[in-house]
Amino acid sequence: RYSKTPLVKEALRELFHDKYDIEGTGKILKKIRNNEIQINWCDIDKFSKLAIPILDHTARYYSSPSNVDKAILDMIKSRLFKTKHRLVCARCGKWVRVVETNEIKNSLSCPYCKARQITATFYSDYDLPKIIQKKHSGKKISSDEKHKFDRAWKVSSLIENFGKTALIVLSGYGVGADTAARILRNMVDEENLYKQIYEAERQYVMTRGFWDY
Ligand SMILES: [Zn+2]
Repeated sequence: RYSKTPLVKEALRELFHDKYDIEGTGKILKKIRNNEIQINWCDIDKFSKLAIPILDHTARYYSSPSNVDKAILDMIKSRLFKTKHRLVCARCGKWVRVVETNEIKNSLSCPYCKARQITATFYSDYDLPKIIQKKHSGKKISSDEKHKFDRAWKVSSLIENFGKTALIVLSGYGVGADTAARILRNMVDEENLYKQIYEAERQYVMTRGFWDY
């Protein structure tokens, strides 16, 4: 769904172009395999002078996403604001509305059952309202449906507590209910929020999305 977006392009460009010398690494691995380069194994109790800057950089790079370009954050922000969601009453499942993140009001309630538990899902998710209605009417739901129902309640509590900010975070690529909860809990300020979303998306693209093309 997002594979053609600038975010993914930027993440892949950064990965292949800035971070890894794929070609050079390949050559070295080949030489090792052909015994042209010999590996000497030794146990040490201190890092060498050569290793320190690498380890230092790695530790710093991964512990703070502070190097993120302002332009990228703005780009992410406008994408998150334009993401469409299907809002559904988590209690009765009858009230459904498709909105963009920027259109949401901070206090929501269901016009049918007056519940304040409004959940959100992908805008193309037509199943969730049916699952909630099924559960509401007392019918048995499958374990897969139960999973989606429980997720819907988690999301509704995030929306109840954090309003629009919750939807902003949930608009992130690959950001599920649990990741969203963590990001919202750790949020310091607006900039930090978008950086956290950026990091979560990057992790997702690197570990999973990348292999799904
Ligand atoms: Zn309702």
